[in-house]
Amino acid sequence: MKKIFFVFSAPSGAGKTTLVRFLLELFPSFGFSVSYTSRPIRGQEIDGVDYHFISVDEFREFIKIGFFVEWEEVYPGHLYGTPKDVIIEHIKSNGVLLLDLDVRGGLEFKKKYPDQTLSVFVGVSSLKFLEKRLRKRGTDTESKIQTRLSKAALEVQSASEFDIILINDVLEKAQNELLQILEHNGYRP
Ligand code: ADP
Ligand code: 5GP
Repeated sequence: MKKIFFVFSAPSGAGKTTLVRFLLELFPSFGFSVSYTSRPIRGQEIDGVDYHFISVDEFREFIKIGFFVEWEEVYPGHLYGTPKDVIIEHIKSNGVLLLDLDVRGGLEFKKKYPDQTLSVFVGVSSLKFLEKRLRKRGTDTESKIQTRLSKAALEVQSASEFDIILINDVLEKAQNELLQILEHNGYRP
């Protein structure tokens, strides 16, 4: 069955946002699954584009009514979830959807839609790369960076459960590999 859901999971800072944006530019027909989150909006983010920002109470209401395909408390008090309606729409239209999910969410999503999903773990060959990139990105406080790094050490242990491991040490190389993966699945820019 043709893959229509491309799920990207990675330790924070490995480059999944960068790679997803690269694909969205090259493939304008691809959609991006805008998640719901209870974390506060940051930096240049736009509500409804990067995430749908809602309160924890609203998020819990959505869980109750079965609004999410998957959801996770990615960081304490910060919930993230993928809305089901967009997924159903894409199954009907057979259009491609890119998803940026944490490692547990990525594996959970693959379990729900195994035939339509290609799960990609974006990794780096050393955790030192992550630390450097998170500092350079400048969106997180020092304590947030430390939380993300300790989570990363756990997340890499699940890499082998993904369909593909994409190493993003050198961006251009990772982008080319990604294009090959897409081509292998029948998609060309
Ligand atoms: P993630 O979404 O996985 O947390 P980002 O895509 O935000 O990661 O990337 C984290 C930072 O690292 C960003 O500042 C990005 O520009 C940078 N970056 C991404 N890929 C590379 C790479 N291969 N080499 C150097 N810096 C990179
Ligand atoms: P950030 O707060 O840095 O934007 O994202 C934190 C983490 O939450 C990232 O690893 C991102 O992939 C993940 N994430 C974003 N949306 C979802 C979602 O809908 N579900 C899950 N499980 N994780 C998500």
